[in-house]
Amino acid sequence: MNTKKLLGVCLLFLLAACRQPFVPSAVDAVNPLMGTASTFAFSHGNTYPAVAIPWGMNFWSPQTGENGSGWMYAYGDTLLRGFRQTHQPSPWINDYGTFSIMPLSGELKLDDKERGVRFSHVEEQAAPHVYQVRLEDGTVASLAATARGAVMEVAWPAEVKSPYIVVDAYGHGGSVKVERESGLIHGVSRYNNGGVPDNFGNYFLVKFDKPMVETGTDEEGRAYARFDLQPGEKLTVRMASSFISPEQARLNFDREVNDRTLAEVTESARQVWEEMLGRIRVEGGTEEQRRVFYSCLYRTLLFPRSLTEFGPVNEPKYYSPYDGQVHNGEMYTDNGFWDTFRAVHPLFTLLYPEVSEGVQQSLLHAYAESGFLPEWASPGHRGCMIGNNSLSIAADAWLKGICVVDSAQLLEAMLHQTRARHAEISSVGRDGHEWYDSLGYVPYPEVPEATAKTLEYAYADWCLARFAESLGRMDIAEEYYAKAQNYRNVFYPEQGFVWAKDAQGRWRKDFDATEWGGPFTEGSSWHWTWSVLHDPEGLARLMGGHDVMAARLDSMFAAPNTYDYGTYGFVIHEIAEMVALDMGQYAHGNQPVQHAIYLYDYVAQPWKAQQRVREVMDRLYQSGPEGYCGDEDNGQTSAWYVFSALGFYPVCPGTGEYVLGSPLFDKATLSLPGGRTFVIHAEGNSPSRPYIRRATLNGREFTRNYLTHDELLQGGELVLEMDSVPNTMRGTQAEDLPYSYSHGKP
Ligand code: CA
Repeated sequence: MNTKKLLGVCLLFLLAACRQPFVPSAVDAVNPLMGTASTFAFSHGNTYPAVAIPWGMNFWSPQTGENGSGWMYAYGDTLLRGFRQTHQPSPWINDYGTFSIMPLSGELKLDDKERGVRFSHVEEQAAPHVYQVRLEDGTVASLAATARGAVMEVAWPAEVKSPYIVVDAYGHGGSVKVERESGLIHGVSRYNNGGVPDNFGNYFLVKFDKPMVETGTDEEGRAYARFDLQPGEKLTVRMASSFISPEQARLNFDREVNDRTLAEVTESARQVWEEMLGRIRVEGGTEEQRRVFYSCLYRTLLFPRSLTEFGPVNEPKYYSPYDGQVHNGEMYTDNGFWDTFRAVHPLFTLLYPEVSEGVQQSLLHAYAESGFLPEWASPGHRGCMIGNNSLSIAADAWLKGICVVDSAQLLEAMLHQTRARHAEISSVGRDGHEWYDSLGYVPYPEVPEATAKTLEYAYADWCLARFAESLGRMDIAEEYYAKAQNYRNVFYPEQGFVWAKDAQGRWRKDFDATEWGGPFTEGSSWHWTWSVLHDPEGLARLMGGHDVMAARLDSMFAAPNTYDYGTYGFVIHEIAEMVALDMGQYAHGNQPVQHAIYLYDYVAQPWKAQQRVREVMDRLYQSGPEGYCGDEDNGQTSAWYVFSALGFYPVCPGTGEYVLGSPLFDKATLSLPGGRTFVIHAEGNSPSRPYIRRATLNGREFTRNYLTHDELLQGGELVLEMDSVPNTMRGTQAEDLPYSYSHGKP
């Protein structure tokens, strides 16, 4: 480009910049340390500061815990043991294919238990795209990430003449090999906690820009290299990896990090984050609210992980964690659908449909390669949680027009998921499906967590019915709509709550709504009674009507926060978190109850939802290390905040409806596919004015308690006039209420 042209381009940029109002950076509002002050006994999020790009194949994190600990970074720790390539979606699932790099300034110590160096949070800067820390020994390390690689810079204090780098492939049959001449350390990490085929390996390479003057390896899969540096001379470390092969790792390396500087990688990762986070712009509110919002959005955009790599002619392919073969196409993993079907995937369908498309393909790939749809994958099937929430994700995206796979194959996979169970992993497929089909519920104690399973299967059946109906398969739709009413079979009329029944149809004795475990999953009847996402109206009628259900919701918040830990036998962290958050029996720190506040909209008392969602946003989230009131869980607890701050929440994926709450910001702008925007204005908003007095949608009076996916996608403007007192007239008519199967709406 000649100088004249360059000047012209600069001028255009300047003009464009002048026309645009100043928009503060979304990336700068993110605090990746939100939620990191967590332990086994108490979770403030169980997060780690992932340096990554959205949905990246590899994340990177400073490591403070010992190798193998799920708490790889805990805010209260004082030693840093490495900079780690990680794929961990949750401490409870742990990591796979991980390795780490540690700079040392003095004595050579290979073992992670010995090599830790003290650090302080004062000397630490964490951002989504780059992390920097100054260790107590004066070493400054900075790392920025690409999708499959990273560039790290290490600056030792001037007096350190012969520093070391340790590369740790985490044992477990992993290995490392030093190639002095080419400045490379090759390795393979075979570390895992299950969910991988026998041939699993993460092939990585690490390249230094200064000669290694002394090197060595040990039996535990660790290597070290010593460098002779001039005072002030920095070492640049470039890394990349592949789950496919060492050759593919080289290709990923050449494309993503070779010859690139830390500054370049930092800047391009920053741009990716700014674009992705910037699809939602919020204005007004406090600086802290902005920080929480974008920190939550950052978490929502990390998982699921794309395992897709690009071959020599840029063809997408992936190593299948299901059959151990390399296939063409896309694969996403590291996701607990039990968590993320609720709000993470619905957010993708709205603002990141390209990810929903990849996920939809991944579902069928997993089915083809393993015989089942995934429910909790990391990277392959894992035994964790319950339900058939893959059906929710598949149906919701399809019904919203994301249709990139063969519908007959998808229908076959969904049907199969309800009719079979994985031979070894009870949470894949449908555990207890024979009971469920013959009795209309899963019996307890014959099957563990049976009542929770009945409720989740009934919702999944409704999702399948909706999907089948959209394909014109009314035979299947009718069968599954009927099964979707099975939630009624675990509703205990004498108590007005869900409870457990044995195979003879006898109710379990000694009803106690505060007893955890047993027929439930990580909760009690207080939490699971609300799990009728597709038919809150039917649930209300079982309870005795709208007013009874509203009063029961009221009493959930008013009840004492007592508990019986039941079959868990100890205070699991979810119980401790419910007690600590002090909202009665409402346990926002875990997923089964996270939609419950929005159920007020279904029983014609929406103002109570408006007040409660604002209370939860104000009290239970903060941008610091104690940021969450329980596990963050692959974006779900974050996506709750993102949606709620916008003013609505997808209570029942599959309906395409977003149920109104109370927006946090004065203005929020959604940048939708096709260049359209949807703007939410909250006029006269303040912490003491959470109530919606009146609303208009595109200038017309709007009385409903929900928006539809199509209304959002078309673009437009929702104006909410906020007030300090509830308007008990708005949103109370039958036509204002969101979808329930029992309303008989289409
Ligand atoms: Ca959870």
